[in-house]
Amino acid sequence: MKPLKIDILTLFPEAFSALDTSIIRRAKESGKIEINLVNIRDFSADKHKKCDDEPYGGGAGMLMTVQPIYDAVKSVKKRNSHIVFASPCGKTLSPELAQNLAKEKHLIFICGHYEGVDQRAIDLLKPEEISIGDYVLTGGEIPTMVIVDCLSRFVDGVITKESLSEESFSNGLLEYPQYTRPQTFKGLSVPEVLMSGNHKEIDNWRRKESEKRTRERREDLLK
Ligand code: SAM
Repeated sequence: MKPLKIDILTLFPEAFSALDTSIIRRAKESGKIEINLVNIRDFSADKHKKCDDEPYGGGAGMLMTVQPIYDAVKSVKKRNSHIVFASPCGKTLSPELAQNLAKEKHLIFICGHYEGVDQRAIDLLKPEEISIGDYVLTGGEIPTMVIVDCLSRFVDGVITKESLSEESFSNGLLEYPQYTRPQTFKGLSVPEVLMSGNHKEIDNWRRKESEKRTRERREDLLK
């Protein structure tokens, strides 16, 4: 199977070293995903490679200019590319959204920075705008890493199907409590049922604990 190709366009490629660790690193090494970092600054037509400017109408901070973003996208865009812009104004990331992104052949991520990007970059390139939650970060690098990490879990073979189906939100519930060795630590023991070897009882216990935890912490999920 061909790897899912991901181009990440950013002014700060060095921020992405986190994608060189653990499961994502293994997914890259085994050819399941391919991640290419593109420095937007390399595409600036300005003689000083400037990529930001003051907003028209005034206001705080600087905005990323449209030309370097537009040209950086054009340099990697193909017929089957799907463009994503990490933005607090986008739809909120969900497992379903991540699963759909994992089905694409080629993803291009645009990372905003400073006060954001010139609206014409959005109007011309028509990316899917995705937010990672109702709060504002300093740049799109961390949100893009969150989205890439989350969608990578849905790429075939990156993690086991069983891991995906037992995870929080996969069945509308939060995950049940989990335990590993030792059996007792500082007086706290692992629930008996988990050591019983009775899989039916273990499944029942887990289901009940999932429901209890969801009722206590995220009642909204049960509606
Ligand atoms: N002025 C923008 C606003 O009020 O919507 C926020 C700009 S933010 C400081 C700079 C960049 O960080 C954004 O362009 C976006 O790429 C990224 N960003 C910040 N928070 C985000 C979030 N919750 N989800 C996705 N991207 C976010």
